[in-house]
Amino acid sequence: MRIVLVGPPGAGKGTQAAYLAKNLGIPHISTGDLFRANISQGTPLGQKAQEYMRAGQLVPDEVTIGMARDRMHQPDAADGFLLDGFPRNLAQAEALDEILKADDLRLDGVLDLEVPEDEVVKRIAGRRMCRKDSSHIFHVIYNPPQSEGVCDACGGELYQREDDSEETVRKRLEVYHSETEPIIDYYKAQGLVVTISALGKVSEVTQRAMEALP
Ligand code: ADP
Ligand code: ADP
Ligand code: ADP
Repeated sequence: MRIVLVGPPGAGKGTQAAYLAKNLGIPHISTGDLFRANISQGTPLGQKAQEYMRAGQLVPDEVTIGMARDRMHQPDAADGFLLDGFPRNLAQAEALDEILKADDLRLDGVLDLEVPEDEVVKRIAGRRMCRKDSSHIFHVIYNPPQSEGVCDACGGELYQREDDSEETVRKRLEVYHSETEPIIDYYKAQGLVVTISALGKVSEVTQRAMEALP
């Protein structure tokens, strides 16, 4: 199964993707996580991405599309994948179609997570990420770790993302509305979109998603 997850920053894409990927037996591919891994390893790609991410802007397509293509062509993604954070504009959506078409493949569905803006702001403000495993995502109020600053799942250090500052979040939301939201109509025209509410408990949203997916 080949699925795209869309929704504003802080909607819970990473949180849901971790459970959905496990339930569906497919890899979770997050371009944000790939960029952050490149930044922490100090790669040239990471150096290119960093200034855009800090500013809450999209990393240029020529960097992003190649990285996403390489990841989708890894052996573990041969039978499917869950894309989180890619595509993020129309040019990337068209590039993804081409990448799939070249292998005679197509998407099975696009899961659109709907959350009111005041809720995403609260979710992002309290987000804490694990340094060891980016699928371990916490929230200081909604999903607090048992001991402060330490990941329950693996003991890794929890940190706040640099781009989760109030000012950068405002910019990221603006970019979401102007550049990313149009891909939902693009996919609606192909009959691929299912929209669910991402409000409620994490497990409830996961269940809603599993029922909505093709
Ligand atoms: P969130 O889910 O909170 O929006 P992500 O981890 O998906 O955050 O993305 C963080 C940042 O990484 C984005 O603001 C952007 O700068 C960059 N990024 C991630 N995916 C893409 C993409 N497909 N195209 C361009 N930039 C991206
Ligand atoms: P995204 O990948 O869309 O940016 P995340 O999965 O990182 O979103 O979630 C953003 C924040 O919201 C995290 O702190 C996460 O723990 C929290 N969160 C995710 N899902 C829920 C939920 N259903 N209810 C409350 N908080 C949630
Ligand atoms: P609550 O803690 O109030 O029961 P959650 O929805 O956060 O609500 O679920 C508790 C825990 O169950 C999560 O932290 C997670 O470890 C696990 N969990 C939730 N949904 C799933 C799922 N679909 N598959 C596997 N584990 C899940």
